[in-house]
Amino acid sequence: MNDILLEKYARLIVKTGVNIQKDQILVISSPIECAPFTRMIAEIAFKEGAKDVVVNWKDELFSKTRYLHAPEEVFEEFPQWQKEFYISYVREGAAFLSISASDPEVMKGVDPQRIVKSQKTSSTALKEYRERLMSNKNPWCVVSVPTRSWAKKVFPNLSEDEAIEKLWETIFMTVRVNTEDPVASWEKHKNNLKRRMEFLNSNRFKLLHYKNSLGTDLKIELPENHIWIGGADYTPEGLEFIANMPTEEVFTLPKKTGVNGVVVSSKPLNYNGNLIEGFSLTFRDGKIVDFNAEKGYENLKGLIETDEGSHYLGEVALVPYDSPISKSNILFFNTLFDENASCHLAIGKAYPVCIKDGENMDEEELERLGVNDSLVHEDFMIGTKDLEIIGITESGEEVHVFQNGNFAF
Ligand code: ZN
Ligand code: ZN
Repeated sequence: MNDILLEKYARLIVKTGVNIQKDQILVISSPIECAPFTRMIAEIAFKEGAKDVVVNWKDELFSKTRYLHAPEEVFEEFPQWQKEFYISYVREGAAFLSISASDPEVMKGVDPQRIVKSQKTSSTALKEYRERLMSNKNPWCVVSVPTRSWAKKVFPNLSEDEAIEKLWETIFMTVRVNTEDPVASWEKHKNNLKRRMEFLNSNRFKLLHYKNSLGTDLKIELPENHIWIGGADYTPEGLEFIANMPTEEVFTLPKKTGVNGVVVSSKPLNYNGNLIEGFSLTFRDGKIVDFNAEKGYENLKGLIETDEGSHYLGEVALVPYDSPISKSNILFFNTLFDENASCHLAIGKAYPVCIKDGENMDEEELERLGVNDSLVHEDFMIGTKDLEIIGITESGEEVHVFQNGNFAF
């Protein structure tokens, strides 16, 4: 791949993504296959004044071996030292970068119950860490780098080398590093998202009604004082960072008990190394009361039955059908990209920052206002070319928010 673009990408992640500060620690979660890029990130971070860079190496094939052969009880225990690792760095104000790149079906053949159990154990142990990140108390950023098995899945008709090359090119396009001045391109992009946010925030919608020909007919109530956000995020100190690169969405939260109707997925969902496809969810008063899937039913069941909050939604995100990633017509089998090509919802925990003053509220208060809590937060795609969304304001006025899959304003 192009070395200049690679360097530009790494720099964009360090400067604009996590926005590393002098004497700050950067914690990176990286697949071992992405080591060369991770080292490049580390070098830039040190040059920008990072106090230290700590890498948490991940190996999905080893993880699979462990899921297949380890005794059941290891998935119920979370090592104290690992908990210490995350909690101490998060308390110290570290920035967290996560490189998301995996074979979409690596966990095929693994008992879904083991994955759910392990997920639950780690989410419970790392509650403080997750909550600090989801309230933007620490800067965090998720990006991607091609791996062989992933690239091959995205471009099955290309050779492995060509597929990797093509996936790099595509990633560069989606994160705007192929432009003359990527930082300036991001400024422009953030301003576009701002315009959408301002329209949505000024209308103070009470309800959104989704409809399309796949069979989606869903009413989502929005809590009072909800806030639409998108593009940049801010720490309490006012430092800007970008939590997802790419990002094309503006999002808020639904009222936990205010979702009714049916929603049908529009893209496969890669959930922890398994694909869930052709699924639909039925809601009554916010709760998922029925669901089915053409593929990956057991994995979907595992996700929904994780805890009480995983029966409810925690995010409502709007992405136009003609967004650049969507127009590429590529199915990435990686939520970071697929969610930014499509309107989506999330099962599970809501971002407290989506409600006025939410980051300063305790659990009871958030619950009272209809902010969902769960050990999971999993986005799934529902946008289509014919998606229509009508917004209903406090005074009962109906406003077209989406028409033919795109923003109507
Ligand atoms: Zn989202
Ligand atoms: Zn999400």
